[in-house]
Amino acid sequence: MSETKQYLKEAEKYFMPSLMHQYYEDPILVDKTEMEYMYDAEGNKYLDCFSGILVTNSGHCNPEITEKVIEQTKEIQHVSTVFLTRPMVELGKKLSEIAPGNLQKTFFVNSGSEAIDGAVNLARIHTGRDNIVSLRHGYHGRTTTANALTGVGSWRFIKSDPAGIHYATNPYCYRCPLDKEFPECDFSCVDALEDTIREACAGRVAGILIETIQGVGGYVVPPEGYFKRIKEVAEKYDALLIIDEVQTGFGRTGKMFGIEHYDFEPDIVCMAKGIANGFPMGAYIATPEVADSFTAPSISTYGGNPVSSVATLANIEYIEENDLAKNAQEVGDYAQEKLKEIADKYEYVGEVRGKGLMLAIEVLKKGGKEKEPGSEEAVQLMENLKAEGVIAGKAGTYGSVVRFAPPLTINKEQMDVALEAMDKSLSKL
Ligand code: PMP
Repeated sequence: MSETKQYLKEAEKYFMPSLMHQYYEDPILVDKTEMEYMYDAEGNKYLDCFSGILVTNSGHCNPEITEKVIEQTKEIQHVSTVFLTRPMVELGKKLSEIAPGNLQKTFFVNSGSEAIDGAVNLARIHTGRDNIVSLRHGYHGRTTTANALTGVGSWRFIKSDPAGIHYATNPYCYRCPLDKEFPECDFSCVDALEDTIREACAGRVAGILIETIQGVGGYVVPPEGYFKRIKEVAEKYDALLIIDEVQTGFGRTGKMFGIEHYDFEPDIVCMAKGIANGFPMGAYIATPEVADSFTAPSISTYGGNPVSSVATLANIEYIEENDLAKNAQEVGDYAQEKLKEIADKYEYVGEVRGKGLMLAIEVLKKGGKEKEPGSEEAVQLMENLKAEGVIAGKAGTYGSVVRFAPPLTINKEQMDVALEAMDKSLSKL
């Protein structure tokens, strides 16, 4: 039996089934990673177009970040938040400098889910209200509150909703939940969100939680003007705007934060994933006015851990010095255009969409009804890409979206390899 098969057997024996969601019919045992590449235990090399679920923005095991982390592990590895450390304070300052608008004060945690829970708590404390509105097809995590706020059925294990959580239609123009066309619809989805506030929440709402681009939902990019309308609704009901930048942050969409594409100042922003290039780190940052409401004592044992904080600072420095956001924009625009040309050849590609290096192909059922989601086709496309040496991601409420989100260090020549593989893989469907 191969080493990979042995490890798979042991994983099945020692992991809860919920953790057994490895990609591919023959899952990969990862042996080594290096910038844009992954290597498996069988000696195969892959161009990684998924970045460990949009995490390794500066490249796997980036040597400049690794060196700084090694030095920090020799000095202080852990003391908890009841003591000050230089990296944690320096990171608080740095996040305040790079965060959009007037976001200034941070609470450090370990994951995206925790950042969402914390942000929602903060909104409830600040407003004295309970209701939170989130969007259908949104993904926010696996802790109790973050999972309940999630609107992708396949990733929800919370069977009944904790009180105070409400859903509104998302701006999924390709499959408009209200069966309308943009721009003639004049943002009916935002009107529906307002209805939810007015009807289900009796006008009393603590916050509206939205991803800048829905990630797990299949890279649903809101149309121009969407956030302006959301802001008007939030102001009308005095609701806080909580933006989930867990996937879209840290250069991914062509700006440091996805929300910077829109003229919009959030009250709270949640971050994780690409923040530390693979080290455990999550954070939520708020305006001083909102943040200062959180006075109840709270400890995050590992939050702001000095090793993770040094990794985060080194990662942000690398993103800034190498202008990875600009690279994401340039290579992303180039790839999106090429993907659209490729997609035109296949009637079973419904739409190519995305921003920066967050690119998605919506696959349709071959010979199916109009726009019928092609979930089996998407699984096969992932397998075909793997056979071509390219790792992609899968997403979408219907499991029919294949996504490219490589490290932001990728160049056009490497992207061409991924694009050629996509063309070949689609042709073999
Ligand atoms: N928000 C978004 C938008 C995410 O994509 C994820 C993870 N996929 C989370 C929150 C939860 O992050 P974590 O897995 O680090 O808890």
